[in-house]
Amino acid sequence: MIPLSMKRYVVALCHNCGEPRVVRMPARSFLCFRCGCRNSVSKVKFVGASDDIDEATYIAKRVRLARH
Ligand SMILES: [Zn+2]
Repeated sequence: MIPLSMKRYVVALCHNCGEPRVVRMPARSFLCFRCGCRNSVSKVKFVGASDDIDEATYIAKRVRLARH
């Protein structure tokens, strides 16, 4: 998890519904846009990370498309 935490943005999956979300680091928690669930950053699964918001958004979009 160390390389991911070095990035400015991470793409995290909601522990409740699995929706990917871009989270600006450092953050301890975030709210899921889809189900409104509060997620603790230390407990969720990361699927990507980037210093570039556009790239992070693209990763989240790709994961979302793959899921639905
Ligand atoms: Zn959710």
